[in-house]
Amino acid sequence: MSPPEPLRVTNPATGQLIEEIPCADAAATEAAIDRARAAQPAWGALPFAERARALRRLARAMRDDGGFLDTLSAESGKPRYEAELIELFYTLELTRYYTGRAGRRALADELRHPLIFANKRARVVRHPRGVVGVIGPWNFPLLNNYADCVGPLIAGNAVVLKPSDRTPLTSLRVAALWKQVGLPAGVLEVVPGRAEAGQALAAHTDMIFFTGSAGVGHQVAATAAARMIPAVLELGGKSAMIVLADADLPRAAHAAVWSGFAGSGQVCIRTERVLVEASVADRFAALCAEEVGRLRQGVPALGQPDASEIDVGAVTFAPQIARAESQIADAIAKGGRVLTGGARRGDLGGQFFAPTLIADATVEMAVVREETFGPVLPIVRVADAEEALRLANDSPMGLSGSVWSRDVGKARALARRLQTGSVCLNDALVNYFCVEAPLGGIKQSGMGLRHGPEGLRQFCRIETIVEDHPLLGWLSPLVDRRLTFPYRASTLRLLRRFMHLFY
Ligand code: NAD
Repeated sequence: MSPPEPLRVTNPATGQLIEEIPCADAAATEAAIDRARAAQPAWGALPFAERARALRRLARAMRDDGGFLDTLSAESGKPRYEAELIELFYTLELTRYYTGRAGRRALADELRHPLIFANKRARVVRHPRGVVGVIGPWNFPLLNNYADCVGPLIAGNAVVLKPSDRTPLTSLRVAALWKQVGLPAGVLEVVPGRAEAGQALAAHTDMIFFTGSAGVGHQVAATAAARMIPAVLELGGKSAMIVLADADLPRAAHAAVWSGFAGSGQVCIRTERVLVEASVADRFAALCAEEVGRLRQGVPALGQPDASEIDVGAVTFAPQIARAESQIADAIAKGGRVLTGGARRGDLGGQFFAPTLIADATVEMAVVREETFGPVLPIVRVADAEEALRLANDSPMGLSGSVWSRDVGKARALARRLQTGSVCLNDALVNYFCVEAPLGGIKQSGMGLRHGPEGLRQFCRIETIVEDHPLLGWLSPLVDRRLTFPYRASTLRLLRRFMHLFY
């Protein structure tokens, strides 16, 4: 068989070719898995503190490497600010958290004490699973690619990372830094490839951590299920922002625009639709339009670390533009009003689409029902909080969201009734940076989690070792003799009395 077509990585903001790299096929991916499998036992056997030191060294190398953020910005088309203060900052923060006390505690042996066998104790041991396959999307070449390897690595697994074929260069650069700072070969393998490489990971690793679309997520989950290996799936969303009449409207409008158009709208937990109480809807929409009017869109500057002259960069994946256009056309046909944008920015040269607000949006429109994952944000008028809740929950997805009200008690009560994995009160997107707390989707938005002890422990297989209690273990021979063969009526009577007393 001929080798797959090489990956041509272009800068979406300029259209220029950055690099052409060989594409890993199934055989190359399996070879990487074999190398990871060979390297894992030694890595897993290291004390936690040594693995932690290694991952911190790598994180510092990313921070200090001059060209690293240019690579990220060039292949994604995002502003330097987003490359540095969202992706790199998050990666350092997650590394700090998981390599610190929280990570050590989450992975440590745990002793549990059974009530009825006081002579025993159960030791819950967390072992690495082996080789974890991480499959990443193109919208966050670092944050949803290498950063998702930090958990499995600190837990003692080796990782084979398959970045998106659109944005593999950041991950390759991480692999080069891994080597440069002298970390053990094979523990982190990067395979730049397409679907074939992704399927090979699902077919041969011990666990899959997938971030991407629901369609591909289903295929990956099916392969994992057939092999009975765990799969964490972080998929798409249609997160709602609910704005109640008593909200701080200027702040809410600012947040709608930031959470709707950061990353050119290519953010999984972005605000995908705003549900605003009718009495304040016009004022809210006008405030949003003012905010959008202040956004500066343009080609991200490379090689200029202090440049922050643009707010909105390019659309990383060209088909997202066609999707935006079709949703806008559908919305206009059904009575939606384009308040800002609505078209490509041909003047900028690359793949740019103007941040688009759609007022008078309704649930009949695709832009309100289906994931956009691009710079289009619909504003839907609702009668009251109950209608907002009903519409928010009337979705096959449940990833994130926000509730805005000056009455925090009311906002929290509403938030608790939202069918979603995570929600912010009077804020948006900040939940991704609360690495101490779990974050993940429900319904078609996925299963499994990132962050917190919950997000780390899923990279471990559990073994329970039941052993004698150091103080009461001397009772064990007596308990054995009393409870096991030969069965006695007297024991039965004793246990019956116990069952009546305690249950
Ligand atoms: P995608 O599903 O097209 O691709 C994701 C990854 O899977 C890529 O690496 C791709 O090469 C690989 N892949 C493609 N076909 C495959 C197959 N058959 N088997 C195995 N792997 C395969 O997604 P995308 O377009 O890169 O990303 C956009 C989607 O990701 C959006 O829906 C977005 O909401 C979602 N996303 C979710 C989160 C989250 O945390 N929930 C975060 C970021 C993005």
